[in-house]
Amino acid sequence: MTVNARMSGSLAGATGTITIDLVQIAANWKALAAKVAPAQCAAVVKADAYGLGAERIIATLTQAGCTTFFIATPDEAEIARKLAPDAQIYALDGLVEGAATVFAHQGVKPVLSTIDDISVWAALSRMRGEALPAAIHIDTGLHRLGLPARDVRHLAADANFLGSIRLELVMSHLASADNPRDPKNRDQLLAFETLSALFPGVPRSLAASDGLMLGPAYHFDLVRPGYAIYGGQASQLAPAPVKPAVRVAARILAVADVAPGETVGYSATWRAKRPSRIATIAAGYADGVPRTASAPDGRPGGHVMIAGNLAPLVGRVSMDLITVDVTDLPDGAAKPGEFATLIGEGLTIEDAGFTAGTIGYEILTRLGPRFTRLYFESAA
Ligand SMILES: *Cc1c(COP(=O)(O)O)cnc(C)c1O
Repeated sequence: MTVNARMSGSLAGATGTITIDLVQIAANWKALAAKVAPAQCAAVVKADAYGLGAERIIATLTQAGCTTFFIATPDEAEIARKLAPDAQIYALDGLVEGAATVFAHQGVKPVLSTIDDISVWAALSRMRGEALPAAIHIDTGLHRLGLPARDVRHLAADANFLGSIRLELVMSHLASADNPRDPKNRDQLLAFETLSALFPGVPRSLAASDGLMLGPAYHFDLVRPGYAIYGGQASQLAPAPVKPAVRVAARILAVADVAPGETVGYSATWRAKRPSRIATIAAGYADGVPRTASAPDGRPGGHVMIAGNLAPLVGRVSMDLITVDVTDLPDGAAKPGEFATLIGEGLTIEDAGFTAGTIGYEILTRLGPRFTRLYFESAA
């Protein structure tokens, strides 16, 4: 962390903390923007900026020079618009019922991925007597959201449609960009080049955090990273030029001796083979520690870091608590009242995801409201 910085937030009453390094998040966005220049770099801030607090994140990224944000829902659009009055804001989920009027009112651009959505936006445009801005999402093989090729060709030939809305972005999304060697990347790139060429002069966007590491051919006019801005590594094979920016810690509530043969936790899944010391920590599945980090099936489970030492989870993760084996730690290293690190130095978000049978994205976005959020920010 940098010298000329300060921490905001209070530890009073906190059983757990998420420390969000806004200085590093700004640096991460700038590094990604430099990587893709002359393409533009947006920021995806859906799901409350991946659980880190949209308010602080949007303000920080705006100050860093970001002018385009992607959110998912109408609620998120309203928050983003309040924080970034002059930014371009795109709404990825399109036009759920009632959304069109909110977006038109807020100057938010929906990402349209069905003919129905396009018709609704075109009708609203005609009613208001102005071509309202929007993006279209083309499906190039993910088969999640996006217009199929047939519909795209249809639209491109329909002067009526093109006249009634203001098409500002053509985008698609990659399925396997976390693996640079997957031939599906190339297939989707070619499909996107072909279909987006039907809208000459309209800016294009294909890549998220992992896609932008596939090289300049994938950058087009705008890239849309989310996870990498927050310090996550979407691809283990092609790491992004970013550094971790999030630390998660929870208090040690108790440290106790457990005799050989005794068990720890619900369903007695872990039995001490030796005289053991068990630390009980104030975070559980209600806080986003996956129950699958308990490793009941014998595979390695999750860990925490206590005073620089890794300690494995033992027994079941419960709603409010986890139990860890601190027998091998130096005497006195695990002390009630001190914090254990769940994510941080020596324990990445990706590690926490992997040992729970999931991905870092899920770990990050599920961290619960009981964690006190502390922000580390530039003092200037
Ligand atoms: C969530 C999302 C992104 C951002 O993805 P990251 O992997 O977090 O960079 C970009 N585009 C679309 C369509 C998304 O849904």
